[in-house]
Amino acid sequence: MVLVIGIPELSYFFQIAIGVFVASLAVVGVVAIVQYCIGRKPKPHRDSSKLIVAEDALRASEARFALTVAGASNGLWDWDVRAGTVYYAPRFRELLGLGSDELGNSFDAWQGLLHPQDATATRTALEAHLKDKQPFSHRCRLRCKSGNFRWFDVRGQALWDDSGTATRMAGSIMDISDQIDAEQARESSQLLYLSLVENLPVYLMRKDLAGRFTFANRAFCRLLNKSLDEIRGTTDFDHYPDELAEKYRRDDVQVAETGELFEDVEENIDSSGQHYFEVLKTQVVDVLGTVIGTQAIFWDVTDRKMAENALREAKIAAEQANIAKSEFLANMSHEIRTPMNAIIGMTELVLETQLSSDQREYLIHVMEAGESLLTIINEILDFSKIEAGRMELESHPFELREMLGSALKSLGVRAHKKGIELIWQCQEDVPDWIVGDATRLRQILFNLVGNAIKFTNEGEVLLSVHQRSENEVSVELEFSVADSGIGIEASHHEKIFDAFQQADTSTTRRYGGTGLGLAISRRLIHLMGGKIKVESEIGKGSTFRFQASFGRDASHVGSSVLDTEQFQDTTILVVDDNATNRQILVKMFNAWGLAVHAVETGKAAIEYLKALLQKSPPPPIPILVTDYNMPEMDGCMLCSEVRRLSGLAGIKIIVLSSSVAAAQNEFGAMDISAFLYKPIKQSDLFNALVDTIGSKSKSPIAALPEADSMPPLNVLLAEDGLANQKLAIGLLKRWGHSVTVVENGADAVAAWASGIYDVILMDVQMPVMDGLEAAKSIRTREYESNSKSRIPIIAVTAHAMTGDREKCLAAGMDSYVTKPFKKQALYEALRPLVQK
Ligand code: ADP
Repeated sequence: MVLVIGIPELSYFFQIAIGVFVASLAVVGVVAIVQYCIGRKPKPHRDSSKLIVAEDALRASEARFALTVAGASNGLWDWDVRAGTVYYAPRFRELLGLGSDELGNSFDAWQGLLHPQDATATRTALEAHLKDKQPFSHRCRLRCKSGNFRWFDVRGQALWDDSGTATRMAGSIMDISDQIDAEQARESSQLLYLSLVENLPVYLMRKDLAGRFTFANRAFCRLLNKSLDEIRGTTDFDHYPDELAEKYRRDDVQVAETGELFEDVEENIDSSGQHYFEVLKTQVVDVLGTVIGTQAIFWDVTDRKMAENALREAKIAAEQANIAKSEFLANMSHEIRTPMNAIIGMTELVLETQLSSDQREYLIHVMEAGESLLTIINEILDFSKIEAGRMELESHPFELREMLGSALKSLGVRAHKKGIELIWQCQEDVPDWIVGDATRLRQILFNLVGNAIKFTNEGEVLLSVHQRSENEVSVELEFSVADSGIGIEASHHEKIFDAFQQADTSTTRRYGGTGLGLAISRRLIHLMGGKIKVESEIGKGSTFRFQASFGRDASHVGSSVLDTEQFQDTTILVVDDNATNRQILVKMFNAWGLAVHAVETGKAAIEYLKALLQKSPPPPIPILVTDYNMPEMDGCMLCSEVRRLSGLAGIKIIVLSSSVAAAQNEFGAMDISAFLYKPIKQSDLFNALVDTIGSKSKSPIAALPEADSMPPLNVLLAEDGLANQKLAIGLLKRWGHSVTVVENGADAVAAWASGIYDVILMDVQMPVMDGLEAAKSIRTREYESNSKSRIPIIAVTAHAMTGDREKCLAAGMDSYVTKPFKKQALYEALRPLVQK
């Protein structure tokens, strides 16, 4: 027993065997004893020694019986049918958890323990044995002392008298509850397995190593429209076309040989159409681990596959639509920009003629409306380009301070109109030259500063730049734009960076705008490797801050060092009511090695100067650098006061103003060394100072020559649009150039052949032959004729998508002007030709 305890099934087997053995032994013993003691009549003893031997044998047998009964694991019982009494062996009681004094010896006591559901069946089995002598082996539940029922295997054998009446019956009970539990568990797992196999919406079958079906679930039978019996023993070749059956066989053999899981989506075409099945195949092994076949589970994934195919097709269609959208945008922008070119350009031209003040005002409105329409078109175009992933940053060296200065000049007009100070400062550690996309950086700053001015009604807007980090090849800069405007509610700090979102929709009408500017800026900043954030409180202004990375420009290092030696002994008196401005001016002058004294008001300036005059010996007179717009005493009043002071008549004055024209008018004949237009560019201030002191400028920034100082050129204009022709002719003639107009590329090539032109302005989209073709043709002919002269060709086009510039250059053109071109842009394109 000890040996088999660890192996439940064997243990169980031995228990049964021992039980049966003990039960039979008991039954045989009981029968023998009964037969010996009761069944047979005693015969007279003829031989006392034989009697003694028999008695000894009987005693030995009884002892053996008692021993067997005591040692049996089953509970023995012995029923005297006629007396109605039962002998229950101690083990019988023990199995039921009863004490030796419990249960008594009646037959009814035993019956009373039967489970109500088993009572009838037990009685019937017993009667069948007693009456019909059928073997008695019966399973039933008996109640134990705990009140729980346990399963028992009850066996017995009766004795019958000569009349066939059962007189005695003996047997055993064996606890088989564990066995029953195990059987039930096995059955229920069998049922579970079957119900899964049969009810899951999958096809399932097994094959032996020869490829013969050994099992198929109902679903698979239905699929083949055959019963399991019809399927068993057949192979795939009996159900599928040879080619398919061969594939299935190959897959099965591979799975059986490698043991690897086979996964595939198989396509089947039958009379009902195209079907897709997802298939899993695995080995089937027996209890000893020997591979005996394969099994396959597969299910219909046609719907999913169809949906995937539809999605793929939809994606391709969407991508094509996106390309079409981009092309549409390119064309649309071309179509809109071309008339805009005419509208803005013509207006610019008319504005330069003699007009009544009303006419001028109306035309200025037309100009402004045209400009803002163009801004909207550009924003939508940019946003679409970014969305389509077609926004690419350019990379070229540029002078940051110059760029900032000129970008802010035009915004300065807006700020001035609203009476706001627009100030900018660039910390000294920020390099002068950096490499990046100046146009896009300008666009971001234009948007942020433009917004700051738009949403500020008084106070100032300050743009600051400082360096966050640098290494040998790159530099990370941080830009911040702070205003003292209306502020933004915290809940809108994130939202405003989404497309078409404005902090307060009700302000739309009041402030205007598309809600695209910040969305575009954020994406551009992202492309520059940075992030933008806003800090703001309602009524307390806003600060937008972003970082961007740029390349370092090795070729310009140190080239813009200003010659400040000439400033030796020069002192400056700064007068500005705006503290930030004062601070920035002081910083700039200090950086150039100048001694500066700064005051807030004209009155304080006069006091300071008076105090200076009283010193002995009197120190050098400072250069007065004064703001024009100041409360109480403005710049003009200050200057005339100062000039009236004895000893200060010759004081040199530089005036800073948001409106040069206004200031110049006011100052009239007053001798002012320089008027500077705010926001002030460092280089402008430097140049003004140099001029004021009387030296030549050593600033690296060359002044822009006046447009009308250009030598005359013979220009060939290839342009099919009448309005554009007029605009270009108007500008070019104003600058003293002569113009010949052709309306298509072919005519341009023919006209060029005459060899009389200095430059060609070439539209890209033209009938007969487009500008790209024409440029290519001219370059080819130049090459073929070994011509030494190469005519400059400037593309003039409304195409503004990435790559258009490259297309023009690849076609042999030299530069590129986008429509609607402005006077300045056309001038910039022509200037290199003039300077050659
Ligand atoms: P737009 O200015 O064309 O409406 P933007 O994307 O540039 O679009 O700005 C989105 C919104 O963010 C603005 O409509 C405004 O509500 C808010 N906003 C942006 N800048 C400021 C600012 N400096 N002060 C207050 N609100 C601002």
